Amino acid sequence: MPRLSKSRFIAGWQCPLRLWYTVHEPWRATPPDPQLQAIFDQGHRLGQLAQQRYPSGVLVEADYRHTRQALEQTQVLMADPGVPAIFEAALEHDQVLTRVDALVRNGDGWDLVEVKGATRAKEVFQLDVAIQYWILTGAGIPVRDAGLLLIDRDYVYPGGAHDPQEFFRFEPLTRTCEHWLEWIEAQAVSFQEVAARTTPPQIEIGQQCFSPYPCPFYNHCSADREWPEHPIEELPYLAGERYQGLLERGVTTIDAIPDDYPLTVAQKRIRDAVAKGHPWTDPDLGEAVQGVEWPLFFLDFETAQPALPRYPGTSPFQALPFQFSCHIQRAPGVAPEHTDFLATADTDPRRPLAEALLNALGDRGSIVVYSSFERRVLGELADALPDLAEPLAALQERLWDLLRVLRNHYYHPAFKGSYSIKRVLPVLVQDLDYTALEVADGQAAAQAWIQMLDTDCDEERDRLAQALREYCFTDTLAMVRLREALLRAAGEL
Ligand code: SF4
Repeated sequence: MPRLSKSRFIAGWQCPLRLWYTVHEPWRATPPDPQLQAIFDQGHRLGQLAQQRYPSGVLVEADYRHTRQALEQTQVLMADPGVPAIFEAALEHDQVLTRVDALVRNGDGWDLVEVKGATRAKEVFQLDVAIQYWILTGAGIPVRDAGLLLIDRDYVYPGGAHDPQEFFRFEPLTRTCEHWLEWIEAQAVSFQEVAARTTPPQIEIGQQCFSPYPCPFYNHCSADREWPEHPIEELPYLAGERYQGLLERGVTTIDAIPDDYPLTVAQKRIRDAVAKGHPWTDPDLGEAVQGVEWPLFFLDFETAQPALPRYPGTSPFQALPFQFSCHIQRAPGVAPEHTDFLATADTDPRRPLAEALLNALGDRGSIVVYSSFERRVLGELADALPDLAEPLAALQERLWDLLRVLRNHYYHPAFKGSYSIKRVLPVLVQDLDYTALEVADGQAAAQAWIQMLDTDCDEERDRLAQALREYCFTDTLAMVRLREALLRAAGEL
């Protein structure tokens, strides 16, 4: 039987075909994009911090290409009572191999510690620990405690070096692991059989392709598949019985959904628009779009949510607004002006951003946003800056959500079930898009900002600042143009 690693075991759990490709045709995987790579890099940094919880711990130097050496080095370190903890310990049972993040000596036994850059113990993380527990106990190692080292959401960074004792919390899972043991034993054999096959198992793409992780073989598996133009999966919030009910009737496309099938109001609108082949326009669209108070301030924030807090007083994954863009339209038909803010100094950006914001938005006129995100950011800014809480709360009173208007009054079949601005814009405003931009979404913006703060190269810093400004500028210009497009759709422009 071929040897399996813990990650291959988890790949098999997600989908046996994913396991097979990982073993036999790994080159078919799509390489990680910069965002995914940034998550891997962050995981590496957190792993290094976690190791500081166990002073005098020793790292097994042999890497994953040198399994035999790693197994031998681990045995030597385990036999040495002077070694209190082993990082990347290599252990094997029944041809299944793992590298344990931290194997910590506990009396005459060991604690098994798996580090995750997350705040809660998702099922896949529990399985991760359970596989390792099965390997260790199967290999005859007395495990006292097995669990996850997770980020403590309540940690508040006091400044200076991060304290790994405060930053992480240990979640014991030994009893949970016990429940998985029998299943893991059986699955190990089954996955080894899959890995030993010379031909891939026949598996259709489905919901398993995205859970618990986006499958890197998705582009390959879906390459030759012909999709209907409007599959039922396009309908928002169609799940459970309603989804199954359609499949049982053999309905796979939206236009084939019977008129009497129970759908929500929004789903019915989509079904009707697709069936008729033209947009649904509510008669009140024009009135809704005109329901603003002039002047108009089209506002968009960018935020970063670092796992490792960067500034004193902040917590893991706390959203830090670092940039805003604002297009200001003084009166109907008048060309918009533009202003923005980008934090370029490596200090807490919230106060300078809030002050620039209050300066830019004045004290009257609708603040046009796209979603409730800006409301939440303003609320968090007010909590963090009590002296500015009142004027920030006044800004919240002026928010006017273009997304809500769009959702309630218009749908175009080309939206394909989504009102995200990236989906809506090319349908309603064809001459403005994000394709030529270096930064093209919020996650990339957060990453570019951190990169800009970290770089020592002036040229790169300027380039990233420019890219961030262009991206946020495009977001607020998109809102100006979307509002105009909706007025046109309502026959009011
Ligand atoms: S894309 Fe889906 S079907 Fe293909 S290997 Fe991945 S999980 Fe399996």
